[in-house]
Amino acid sequence: MNRSAAVSIKGLKKSYGDFDAVKGIDLEIPTGEVFAILGPNGAGKTTTVEILEGYRDRTAGEVQVLGVDPAAPTRTWREQIGIVLQESEPNTLLSVRETLEMFAGYYSSPRGVEETIELVGLSEKADTRAGRLSGGQKRRLDVGLALIGDPDLIFLDEPTTGLDPRSRNQVWNVVRALVADGTTVLLTTQYLDEADQLADRIAVIDHGKVIAEGTSSELKASVGAGALHVRVAEPEQAEQAEQMLVAALGDEVSRESDGISLSARADDPSLVASLLTQLNDSGVEVTEFSLGQPSLDEVFLALTGHPAEDDAERSDQPEPEVAR
Ligand code: ATP
Repeated sequence: MNRSAAVSIKGLKKSYGDFDAVKGIDLEIPTGEVFAILGPNGAGKTTTVEILEGYRDRTAGEVQVLGVDPAAPTRTWREQIGIVLQESEPNTLLSVRETLEMFAGYYSSPRGVEETIELVGLSEKADTRAGRLSGGQKRRLDVGLALIGDPDLIFLDEPTTGLDPRSRNQVWNVVRALVADGTTVLLTTQYLDEADQLADRIAVIDHGKVIAEGTSSELKASVGAGALHVRVAEPEQAEQAEQMLVAALGDEVSRESDGISLSARADDPSLVASLLTQLNDSGVEVTEFSLGQPSLDEVFLALTGHPAEDDAERSDQPEPEVAR
């Protein structure tokens, strides 16, 4: 195992009764990196992260987190990691400041409370009771609680699930501030844009297995195509444009329900450039024309054959096992 890695996992497996939730995961997360584990509901993200946090036993495999096996945690090690659980229940009667002060008391060398309040953007809410915070503000308090021990590594389990876009952005900004500070972050998420926005590298997991790993651009490139989008001014011109796209790109072209937008895979940018000229020369009025990488959504679909939102119903579920 690589000693400089913040997290090192080899052949990790976890079964709940007969059900294999994690089926052999290998991952190395270098110090200082933001690493995202991306996968749909039930993929095995929380199980994996809880094993790394020392909250859950594993069935097989080797795990080192900051050089320590989480199955045999030390007090110093516990202080080096910060944890943001998927669901938390802060004491609703304590203010933001009081909550952070209470948690700071558990650590031998905590980060300053005021500094933490500022870092998570809750200065104006410092005297507000935790129970009166909005969903996004609560999540930021959760992140503050994970930070108060001044950890080297932070686990963020689905930090923005259920938040509105504005609150998600605020949580993202907090994560970005952490990264600038040099903290290693392991993030789990169901949101492709979240992984895209925050992570240096992404492991896509599905049904307890890593199905792809790389930077956001590498994952997009692995699907092997750019995405071309063309919009024409008049529905009457769409047919002609479609024929020209098919002829130029030799691939399927899909027309959207508005009747004027077309999209196609385009591997060769030079063909796309000449296509624009051809459309123009033949009098088709193009109002929008873009060539980009496929979205992570498209990548997920290409990798797994189903959309990332897919919450597959499974009938082979065992009785829940309680985390230790
Ligand atoms: P989500 O995004 O919904 O949180 P996840 O990727 O974190 O999903 P896990 O919570 O790790 O997924 O669950 C992986 C699989 O293991 C699921 O099928 C789940 O039902 C099952 N599972 C999780 N925890 C337990 C448990 N304590 N006992 C039994 N089965 C469990």
